Amino acid sequence: MLLKGQTALVTGGSSGIGSAIAQAMAAAGATVAVNHRAGAERAAKLADDILKTGGSAFAIEADVSDEGAVERMFEEVINRCGRLDILVANAGLQKDASFQDMSLADWRKVIDVNLTGQFLCARAAVRQFLSQEELPHLSRARGKIICMSSVHEVIPWAGHVNYAASKGGVMMMMKSLAQEVARQRIRVNGIAPGAIRTPINKEAWESPEALEKLLKLIPYGRIGEPENVAKAAVWLASDESDYITGTSLFIDGGMTLYPGFADNG
Ligand code: NAD
Repeated sequence: MLLKGQTALVTGGSSGIGSAIAQAMAAAGATVAVNHRAGAERAAKLADDILKTGGSAFAIEADVSDEGAVERMFEEVINRCGRLDILVANAGLQKDASFQDMSLADWRKVIDVNLTGQFLCARAAVRQFLSQEELPHLSRARGKIICMSSVHEVIPWAGHVNYAASKGGVMMMMKSLAQEVARQRIRVNGIAPGAIRTPINKEAWESPEALEKLLKLIPYGRIGEPENVAKAAVWLASDESDYITGTSLFIDGGMTLYPGFADNG
């Protein structure tokens, strides 16, 4: 079990990619705090399902864009588990609009949750990693942070300027933070998924027509499943990836290979 005895906090853990990561980390032996903002029932059910399969998990409410709520969430995790080894800063949302129609409220909401939310959680995690006793038999690194980014940290996305800006910001926050805390042996990496089948992008895969259009962007020929991301997240949080920090791991079926150029020779 790659994460045996470790404690992981997964934000936005009650659905989609976060839910799959929570399950996979619990199956790998971690105690998992499943953060949710609105989905209390789903988070409680997920924690319950994990307990039934012999794992360890509990649900924990917090809006990641609220500094006080994030501080209280970390306090509760430490009160319950005694320490934190892994943060998966996964919570995120989209509020799409053409640029000329984008409201300041929608710009701010996406930046607040996707970027500032990751800043607040990563800062609390770093403070915790530095203040707690090191347990080298559990993990070689003092702590691990995984920032959920997107292929849109590098692929521009018309109609989603706030989202793409937030993910570009996540990438540079992740790399700068990784550089800053590497000497303290805290590993910080990003996962940049392509199109993964979750509620956030339902309209892109729900109908056969939309799916056909989407698949033109994916050389590997299928949409990704949350489990594809979850398996990589477990590896990235484990000692198996101990020398890796400051890296974006693209899990995108080749979307960032710019398939439009394949037949353009
Ligand atoms: P999702 O909508 O199923 O999950 C997002 C989760 O974040 C939800 O549980 C939601 O309740 C939570 N959340 C939103 N605002 C929050 C807040 N203020 N505080 C706490 N939690 C909050 O979608 P998903 O696809 O699983 O998205 C997870 C992450 O993956 C996001 O950061 C998203 O940008 C990223 N991502 C997804 C895809 C994809 O194709 N699905 C691709 C690239 C990146």
